[in-house]
Amino acid sequence: MLFPPLIERKRDGGALTPAEWHNVITGYLGGAVPDYQMAAMLMAIVWRGLEPAELEALMEAMLASGATLDWSGFARPRVDKHSTGGVGDKVSIVLAPLVASCGVAVPMMSGRGLGHTGGTTDKLEAIPGFRTALSLAEVRAQVERIGVAMFGQSDAIAPADRRLYALRDVTGTVPSIPLIAASIMSKKLAEGLSGLVLDVKTGSGAFMAEPAAAVTLARTMVALGEAHGCRTSALVTAMDRPLGRAIGNALEIEETLLALEGQGPDDLMLVTRALAVEMLMLAGTDTDRAAANRRVTEALDSGKALATFRELIAAQGGDPAVIDDPGLLPQANEVELFEAPAAGTVASVDPRPLGLAVVAMGGGRRALGEAIDPSVGFVVSARPGARVARGEPIASVFARDAAGAALGLRALEEAIRFGEPVPQLPLISHRVTATGVETF
Ligand code: URA
Repeated sequence: MLFPPLIERKRDGGALTPAEWHNVITGYLGGAVPDYQMAAMLMAIVWRGLEPAELEALMEAMLASGATLDWSGFARPRVDKHSTGGVGDKVSIVLAPLVASCGVAVPMMSGRGLGHTGGTTDKLEAIPGFRTALSLAEVRAQVERIGVAMFGQSDAIAPADRRLYALRDVTGTVPSIPLIAASIMSKKLAEGLSGLVLDVKTGSGAFMAEPAAAVTLARTMVALGEAHGCRTSALVTAMDRPLGRAIGNALEIEETLLALEGQGPDDLMLVTRALAVEMLMLAGTDTDRAAANRRVTEALDSGKALATFRELIAAQGGDPAVIDDPGLLPQANEVELFEAPAAGTVASVDPRPLGLAVVAMGGGRRALGEAIDPSVGFVVSARPGARVARGEPIASVFARDAAGAALGLRALEEAIRFGEPVPQLPLISHRVTATGVETF
């Protein structure tokens, strides 16, 4: 294959055939296409985009570059959820056991923290002993046994995405809707799902800050899932403020435990419930949303969802005693209160400085493979629009040492603004399915 003419065609706005996209991916993985040529192709895609047929061919080639979960002989529907990433987004950890406790098989593959956003795998590993490196055979066996497994992406799944993502990361080619869609869907569809729900975040703390771009990304991913034979729907949800109160790995596990008892913060519960209903509908467990909602309420109120989380923790080597005693989770050395500097109204809480501060305090990685401190983070009780008194404690910072605590306090000063309330994005603004876009 002569690669430069393919780059030139894409650069000039032309389209490659499905066979050519297949060759691009096999050529790159096999070493025939060097990084510099692939980087030029990626930049051409950033500028020119991809036709739907090209995107589908690229995504299928990336998916075919690795293994897929084999569910032969397993009759139950399998449904997963994916979030495009946010700050305080612990929804997956509530959702997987909750939906599994409603009778749906949930093989959930998650990522690590990326940029200012936290990762589900890192959060789960805050539970002492919890193992996320499961083989695909272990995933299947555990889903058969207890209905749910939560695991990290292994080298076996979509290796083309792993290589391409690393290259995009250093060549300014991450922000491209087709590249993001192909990247996410090639990994998710490797799980052999019957249904997939996407939580596409929008706002200052999301990768897609603009709601219109988030809707386009949602539509693109839904189309890819459906074309592959996986029923797919998406909700576009707000990330212009943190989700829930806790930010940071162990702190978010603690909030997850509350949510699994139905006692989490309202915004977290609303988003989790809405995604759970989507998953139950895609699985065919319920055909009407009200019935699905009742099933979710029953799973939370009866303790079934929490009991499934206990089983999940034990199955993956974690210490289930954290459920009864969250004090067994890693604890920060330094805890400082952040007090309102004056009486007034909280105008906004910007998630991005808080997410970045968690990384700077040691709760996320600045280099590949770096160890992280799961104990650090924030609990922010101030919500946009709330009236506060001077000196009222409105947030706490959890840090490893005094320097970390000082850094955390500065991040809170930057993130929490006072004054006229800034209009907030609707918590759930759109629902995207194969048949179109509903706006709420
Ligand atoms: N998450 C992914 O998995 N891939 C992207 O390209 C962006 C976010």
